[in-house]
Amino acid sequence: MKVHRIELPTPFPVGPVNAYLIEGDPLTLVDAGPKTPEVQAALETGIGATGRRIEDIRRVILTHGHVDHFGNAMWVTGRSGAELFAHPADGPKFAGERWVAENLGKHFTLAGMPPTFLDAFIDRMRAIRALVDPVTAYHPLQDGDSVAIGAESLRVLHCPGHSLGHICLFHQEGALIAGDLLLEGISPNPIVEFSHDGKRIPTLPQYLQSLRRVLLLNCELAYPGHGGTITNPGARIRELISLHEQRKEEILRRLGPEPKTLFALAQELYQNLDVINMMLAVSEVVGHLDLLLEENRVTATRRGHALIFRAKSPR
Ligand SMILES: [Zn+2]
Ligand SMILES: [Zn+2]
Repeated sequence: MKVHRIELPTPFPVGPVNAYLIEGDPLTLVDAGPKTPEVQAALETGIGATGRRIEDIRRVILTHGHVDHFGNAMWVTGRSGAELFAHPADGPKFAGERWVAENLGKHFTLAGMPPTFLDAFIDRMRAIRALVDPVTAYHPLQDGDSVAIGAESLRVLHCPGHSLGHICLFHQEGALIAGDLLLEGISPNPIVEFSHDGKRIPTLPQYLQSLRRVLLLNCELAYPGHGGTITNPGARIRELISLHEQRKEEILRRLGPEPKTLFALAQELYQNLDVINMMLAVSEVVGHLDLLLEENRVTATRRGHALIFRAKSPR
């Protein structure tokens, strides 16, 4: 399988995002960047360097419903007539459904964040919407589906956690198109998510489960959503799992017997964050508290509009 990495600029702190052009029939592009003129120019140049054109792309596969990966997908399919594929669990995010942001707003209140924070976040979300053409029609991919490219094929792995509809693509010779499941240098955030009825989904436990599942595949090579190719994916997965274990213990230590809100904990752990990164920090903290609640090592109670957490005293 011949894979070309095409680095695309983003206006986000994460830096550039990768799209991958997979040679063969049908010519396939994985992810498409956010919708900016710079990304569109970089795609033209990057695809041109492989001897192909955007018009030659016949299939676009999206790893997940984050703007840096899918915002520009409709531009690519519009130019090429390519068919679009994605996992339906990220459908509400692809379509930009309003309830996704509304539930996040409710969660911020519960996390003990000041209302000024929520206003700033809503402003940022509005600005981000300019970088997206909503995706409402696509072919649904499910776990276990096989995606044929010439005589070869890629297996779809549904790997929720970083995003509910996150998929990876596994090639039998040991290569993995990893999306944001696996990154070098950054630990991918299990971002807070909700079901339509407002119930929060425990994304960190899901994420760790997805990592453990992929670990069993013994991949030799991973093509991540950001940064260069990962040559020892197993080592990176084990590193991420142990990093999360350490962070969970650190959060428990900071909690002590003193009750704290999610916001207070996130502020202690990470200083000087902008609204987007604070949202990610709160996601991270709540994920670890989910695990600690599961292990019966902390308690959560309501105080006013906010939830407060306490460490249970060890017996
Ligand atoms: Zn992502
Ligand atoms: Zn990303």
